[in-house]
Amino acid sequence: MNIPQSSFPRVVIIGGGFGGISLAKKLSHKEFQVVLLDKHNYHTFQPLLYQVSTGGLEPDSIAYPIRKVLQGYPNTYFRLTEVNKIDTNINCVDTSIGSLKFNYLVVATGSTTNFFGNKAIAKNSMAMKSIPQSLNLRSLILENFEQALLTDDLHEREALMNFVIVGGGPTGVELAGALAEIKKGILPKDYPDLDTRRAQINLVQGSDRILPAMSIKASEKAEQFLESLGVNVWKNLRVSDYDGNIAKTNTETIFETATLVWAAGVKAVGIKGLDAKDYLCRGNRLRVNEFNQVGSFEHIFAIGDVAQMESEEYPYGHPMMAQPALQQGHHLGKNLVRITEEKAMVPFTYNDKGSMATVGRNKAVADLPKFKFQGVFAWFIWMFVHLYFLIGFRNRVVVFINWVYNYIKFDREARLIIRPFKKKYQVNS
Ligand SMILES: Cc1cc2nc3c(=O)[nH]c(=O)nc-3n(C[C@H](O)[C@H](O)[C@H](O)COP(=O)(O)OP(=O)(O)OC[C@H]3O[C@@H](n4cnc5c(N)ncnc54)[C@H](O)[C@@H]3O)c2cc1C
Repeated sequence: MNIPQSSFPRVVIIGGGFGGISLAKKLSHKEFQVVLLDKHNYHTFQPLLYQVSTGGLEPDSIAYPIRKVLQGYPNTYFRLTEVNKIDTNINCVDTSIGSLKFNYLVVATGSTTNFFGNKAIAKNSMAMKSIPQSLNLRSLILENFEQALLTDDLHEREALMNFVIVGGGPTGVELAGALAEIKKGILPKDYPDLDTRRAQINLVQGSDRILPAMSIKASEKAEQFLESLGVNVWKNLRVSDYDGNIAKTNTETIFETATLVWAAGVKAVGIKGLDAKDYLCRGNRLRVNEFNQVGSFEHIFAIGDVAQMESEEYPYGHPMMAQPALQQGHHLGKNLVRITEEKAMVPFTYNDKGSMATVGRNKAVADLPKFKFQGVFAWFIWMFVHLYFLIGFRNRVVVFINWVYNYIKFDREARLIIRPFKKKYQVNS
């Protein structure tokens, strides 16, 4: 791996997401050799992936080179590689470019889509957890309309213009809202020779309300916003099967659709070698103590989505969101310094800054610790917060300009099929 020997203890961080980057920043200029490993050479700002999928933003506006984040940090190394295995007996990570010993290991591998073992849905649906997946979805949405324009078969045309989004959390809500805005403002102009009024956007939620992690007021208002945009909100409905043409549910309801987006669950990204029963929890997360130590290991930590820190307030760990990852990364940095100073570590406490979701222009819901509000103000807060947490000055400027432009012009100009997604829809015979 070409990492020099150092007199400082080596901290290997697996994952350059919110948690990994926050930790690397905290350890910069401290007496550690930091080695950050990621299978991508960029950090992804996942909360805005749905805007890439719907042509509102280019992917490079929400990605940032990890090497640039680390520029100027002494004793800090980045290697582009996938970690395959951890050998806890000899304190070594095994990667696609070789192996590396560590003094401290921090697993910050995040999460991936959870299809709950349903192979048909995993094979035929679209996920939206990474930039390549968002680009695939963007291509598929646009290809569907191109194909709908060409077919004489009304049945096929409707299925091509029927979108089903499974999962009424923030991702599903935001994607449904964005698609509804495209249907209203862009499709009639782009496809004047296609009856785009027949396009349907369905949001399917298994429980009795969308945004179940937010307040009831936020759920109700978000549902109203979606319905005002023409989204069909289905509650207490579960998609149980999808063959690429027909989505079956737990009731008589079926959807004939060429596009089913699965936003109904995530599970942690585990790594071989760190999978003993006594600390592996539901959804693949690693049980950590209040210092983020995994199981009984004193020098192996997990932070962010992959870590399950159970407490009275959070019996299943913190929500799999950016804030816990950022805060745990920052806090662990401080604790690692305390270890080297031979001071006791300080337990982590989560500072819940609230949650938000946007449905479309002027329509958002925000549950902050002291206030809950919905509508235009919430929408401005949502934009401000996302711009603030985006990494990179250029990205902030580009995203801001895009949003202003889209707001004024009612447009989303990144609706480009740059790399076609090969999924031709064919009606079942
Ligand atoms: C569509 C979408 C919308 C979201 N919206 C919001 C939102 O509005 N607000 C919010 O707070 N949260 C949101 N989240 C959740 C938030 O993005 C995650 O909680 C957060 O990214 C977790 O940070 P992390 O550091 O744990 O992992 P991540 O940010 O996922 O980073 C993990 C990193 O590990 C790398 N990695 C994984 N396995 C390996 C391996 N074996 N070898 C090398 N590298 C590896 C990955 O490439 C990745 O860079 C959203 C997520 C998605 C997918």
